[in-house]
Amino acid sequence: IKWTEGRGWHDAQLVPYAPLSLDPANMTLHYAQTIFEGLKAYRQPDGSVATFRPEANARRFQSSARRLSMPELPVETFIEACDALVRQDKEWVPDAGEASLYLRPFMIATEVGLGVRPANEYLFLVIASPAGSYFSGGVQPVSVWLSEEYVRAAPGGTGAAKAGGNYAASLVAQAQAIEHGCDQVVWLDAIERRWIEEMGGMNLYFVYGDRIVTPELSGSLLPGITRDSLLTIAADLGYQVGEGRISVDDWKQGAADGTLTEVFACGTAAVITPVGSVKSTRAAWPVADGAPGPVTMRLREALLALQSGRAADPYHWMHPLGA
Ligand code: PMP
Repeated sequence: IKWTEGRGWHDAQLVPYAPLSLDPANMTLHYAQTIFEGLKAYRQPDGSVATFRPEANARRFQSSARRLSMPELPVETFIEACDALVRQDKEWVPDAGEASLYLRPFMIATEVGLGVRPANEYLFLVIASPAGSYFSGGVQPVSVWLSEEYVRAAPGGTGAAKAGGNYAASLVAQAQAIEHGCDQVVWLDAIERRWIEEMGGMNLYFVYGDRIVTPELSGSLLPGITRDSLLTIAADLGYQVGEGRISVDDWKQGAADGTLTEVFACGTAAVITPVGSVKSTRAAWPVADGAPGPVTMRLREALLALQSGRAADPYHWMHPLGA
């Protein structure tokens, strides 16, 4: 779907997957007005297909667009575009279980020019790819590297938007994590380098027995849809769940005195991933015994059961697309 200043959104098309042809002076290539979303379509037990909370993705896409001075796509148009692609590619939605069809809606500027200002032409696209279960050999805890040198986002920056530049800026820290033998990077706040923000492409939850806390939306972390869903699911399962500030010292101390029983990360791609161990330039410590914990696994099962249609959907989060 194209957007042109003065005309708005126009020319929606469903076309075979193919390369885009871009002018070398396309403004996106230089000034990075690119935003995206990620959501999944799941096969339901009756053979029909449903997406998970597309409206939440559509709203986050609008807020990312506002932050990047890009036009807002109406929520209904975002959902219709995803629906049309999933209907077209229905045979690519895996049959059951944790596998899904991953949808990647995104928007780029298409105006040609080298002046630094918001473009006057944009293109919104959706592509799709089947996604297997993230953990082929069972759920494996990840090891994390606390990034003290680099920050992902600062107050007033674009951290709360799903903007391409955030990911470009995070690659060097992810490489450091791997150099230090860790799977993923964990970001700290930009000012004090003390408060836990989020993981590479996932939000974090800290489990203290029956009490579960996730870092509050500081303005510089991404408001994850899985994170938001778990606030509701965990409360309904009887946990005392909330948002708060968690420091590196809280994490270290809780792990040392045993009050912190589990830590997990959550996001569309990996659903829920246990965090097994932590490393920073000064210290390394395990989270409990390093194995996937019962709260992590219970929440993971509850969320996957809802998404795959094995459990009821009291929140009306599934968006059915018909058989
Ligand atoms: N944080 C970041 C930086 C991400 O890229 C993602 C993935 N979209 C998340 C958190 C998790 O968000 P969601 O649950 O909406 O996938």
